Order: sequence, then C-alpha cells, then structure tokens
Amino acid sequence: MRSAYHNEPFLDFSDDSVNQQYDSALAQAEANLGQHYPLVIGGAKIRTERSHSSVNPARKRQVIGTVSQADTALAEQAVQAAALAFESWKNTDPNERARYLYKAAALMRRRKFEFSAVLTLEAGKTRAEADADTAEAIDFMEFYAREMQRLSDPQPLIPHDEEENHLYYIPLGVGIVIPPWNFPLAIMAGMTSAALVSGNTVVLKPASATPIIAAKFVELLEEVSLPPGVVNYVPGPGHEIGDFLVDHPLTRFISFTGSRDVGLRIQERAAKIQPGQQWIKRVIAEMGGKDAIIVDEHADLELAADAITASAFGFSGQKCSACSRAIVHEQVYASVLQKVVERSKKLVVGNPAYAKVQVGPVIDESAYRKILEYVEIGKQEGKLVLGGFPGDPEGYFIQPTIFADVDRAARISQEEIFGPVVAFTKAGSFEEALAMANQTDYGLTGAVFSNNRAHLELARQQFHVGNLYFNRKCTGALVGVHPFGGFNMSGTDSKAGGRDYLLLFTQAKLVSERF
Ligand code: GLU
Repeated sequence: MRSAYHNEPFLDFSDDSVNQQYDSALAQAEANLGQHYPLVIGGAKIRTERSHSSVNPARKRQVIGTVSQADTALAEQAVQAAALAFESWKNTDPNERARYLYKAAALMRRRKFEFSAVLTLEAGKTRAEADADTAEAIDFMEFYAREMQRLSDPQPLIPHDEEENHLYYIPLGVGIVIPPWNFPLAIMAGMTSAALVSGNTVVLKPASATPIIAAKFVELLEEVSLPPGVVNYVPGPGHEIGDFLVDHPLTRFISFTGSRDVGLRIQERAAKIQPGQQWIKRVIAEMGGKDAIIVDEHADLELAADAITASAFGFSGQKCSACSRAIVHEQVYASVLQKVVERSKKLVVGNPAYAKVQVGPVIDESAYRKILEYVEIGKQEGKLVLGGFPGDPEGYFIQPTIFADVDRAARISQEEIFGPVVAFTKAGSFEEALAMANQTDYGLTGAVFSNNRAHLELARQQFHVGNLYFNRKCTGALVGVHPFGGFNMSGTDSKAGGRDYLLLFTQAKLVSERF
C-alpha cells in the first residue's frame, strides 16, 4: 500500500546550506547549457534541421538549449505513434500505470534542485517560485497516481438483485497536451500525468518559451521506462502544428492551459467533426484571470497588504491566479494602498539566480512589450504610484507597478495583463466591492479580507470565481487541498489537483450481468 498523499514540503531558503545546494545546482545547470533536444516520437529521437533556441529571460543572450521543431508531417507521425501505443497502454493495469508516476515522482524528489535550477534559468523563476513549481509537479504525480487507483477500485452502485454491476473508468484515446510556460514543470507534468495515468496516450507540445524543462520531464519518463509512444514530445511553432494536432481526426481530447484567445480557438476547431472522426472531441481548457482581492472596512490590513503584494508581484504577476485588482473599502483605502506601496518598494527585482531576488523578469520580448503598453494605458486611466518603468536591459525586467484610483471599467481593470501591474479601486461598501469584483468576463481566483462574518458569507455565495480565498492570498493553490480551475472565460473549471480531474480524461463504462 502507498502511504497517504501529502503535499511535498517547500525548501527553507532561510537556511544557508539550502542556498548553497541551489548555487551548485545552478552551476551544474549552467555547465550543461546549450545542449540540443530532439523530438521524441514513438520512443525514437528525431533531430530536425529547424531548431529553436530557448533563452534565459533574465539574461537574453544566454541560450539554455535548442530544440528540434516539428512540422505537420512529424506531428502526424506523433499522432500515429500515440494511436498505436494506445492499443496496449489502454489495457495496462491502472496500478502499473500509477507506479510509473510514483517512480518518476521519487526521482524528481531526489533531483529537485536540478529541476528547479532549470526553471530559474529557463523561466526566470526565483528560487522559492521554482521550488514551488517542482514541488507541485511531484504533488500532481503522487496525487493523480492515487486517484487512478481509487477510480480503478470497485465503484459504489446501488445493489440490484440477481445482477452483478460494475462501473469502469476507461481511457479516451490520444490526447493533445498543450501546457503553459508559467508553470512549465508543474502544469505540464500535471496535465501529462493525468492523461497518461488514466490510460490515454499523449502528444505533448511544450510551450515555446520553456521547451527544455519539458524535455527534461520526458527524459525522466524514459528513465522510468514508460513504454514508447505513451508520451510523444513534439515542440514546434503553435501556428504551424497547433491547429493540425487539434484538428486531427485521431485526436480524442485536447488539454490546454494558456491564453483565452488560443483556448477559444481550440474549442471552436475541436467542435468541427473531421472526415473519419468517430467521436466528439473533449476540450479541457484553463485560461486567463482578472483576479481581485477585496479588502473590507474591518479587516487585518497588514495581512491584506502582504497578500496583495505577494499575489500581484510573485513571479512578476505571471500567474493566472495573480491579483491584478485590489478593491478596497473607502474607509481603509488610503491605508491599504500605502502599505502595499511600502512593501512593494522593498521588493528586490533582478536576476532570480541570486538568492536575495524576489521578483524576476517577465518571460519574453512580446510579454515585455505588451505589459509596458498596458503601463502606458494605465497612466491614462489611473494614478501611477509605484514603478511603471522597465529594469535592467540585460533581461525582460519590469518594476512592480501600482496604479491607484482606477475605474472599475477601465481597460487595466478588465483586460488580463499577465505582468507585475495592479490596479487599486475604491469601493463605497462591501456590496459594491463584490459587484466590482464580479464585473469581469473571467472568474478564476479571488480573495476577501474581512472580519465580518456576514460579509464573508455573502462573498461565499456571490463572489463568482472557481477559487475563492478568505483572509489569505489568491495564488498558491496546493494540489489536493485547493483543486484549481475557473468560471466563465477562465475556462472549463477542470479543478486540477482535485478528485474530479481524472474524470475528464476517462469515460465511464457500466457492465451489468444478470445471473
Ligand atoms: N495554480 C496556480 C496558483 O494557484 C496558478 C496556475 C496558473 O497560473 O496557471 O497560483
């Protein structure tokens, strides 16, 4: 029997020896830079002429590695390899499938500094953010492995005389997994693990900004001897192979985490039945957020300011759970704003390879430009009280930026920026704050700071988000503890890391035998 599930503990970076280990891991990762990573299709390594460089967003000139690039012919091969592997993988004992994940989780745990160091270099994650990403990847593997074992146990049905009835959760088929760059290990590994442990086979198209960490995960799956073809690693330009993979008649489901535009495009394309297609494709899409933290008139203002600062600027605001709107009761507005400015001013921005750094770069040139454009828009829409300018040109640094007195309908209150920018809005009452928070197309996370029980209960009922937090920050959902996913344009509310998640990768078959 496996032990009960528990979350992987985070490293303690106040301990010098932990930082020294991190320093060595970074030195080791830097010594390995510049390698080439081929595609992996049906277990075969395929090197293409075209290659793509993954660069360090904190040091634009540092190439982390290069990756081969699939075209549509190779994407076709990958789908065929996955379809072939499905024929045997679907019949593999779920307990055996789970054991591949337990083994991969154990190896990743032993090598967590190595994985986190790559995240620091490739995604610009601070030590603590990288460690949390690796810990979450381990959690997903441990959690979904147990979940599959639970689902493979006899399922509760109402007994019926003279019959034996069983409900089996069987896999769907070939899945296209398109993960994001912002949790390039955790979410990528989580989406892939859920699909494979449920008995599906996968064509994994990693995010273009972070293909190396995905290649390392695929290497880990090889190390644990996952059968060839169960996971195929197919990096390539989204505009070239993305539609092709989604449209393919052998594609049974698409699991996507990323922008709203791409998610909606996938949803639309997947709905079209292709010649030879025998099923309705399933789309699991987790998209953006425009998440708000409400601070009530009577609340712990220190705690609220800590939470707004952490949720807005952790990983430079590049989480779909990030706080991009602070909606504060007018009685405490000035005080909360001042406290957040004070805290944010002290944040150390810079290359996250250094232990002291708290805010790293944004991911790439196009994110950098887009965020700076929103900063300009913000200057028209509100009062700039902190930041509003870029940092060291060595990387894509943007200073934590705070706008005050922003209208609820302003563009920076409505559009996802995905950067270190937060808009403060004043509310006349708690009810008004709640209405403002709900005035968005999205519905992913939200938080309320209040000491008023009636207000918390009102928010429990009316704050329309998938993940609602009281008196704590709105980022940092833990696997198994806070199943994660949002409403409306935030996606299909898949609740990653929850008991319902694997059901999305399976279909239930009822077998009834009458005696
Ligand atoms: N699960 C993460 C959190 O709770 C956010 C995931 C995302 O940004 O996609 O902060």
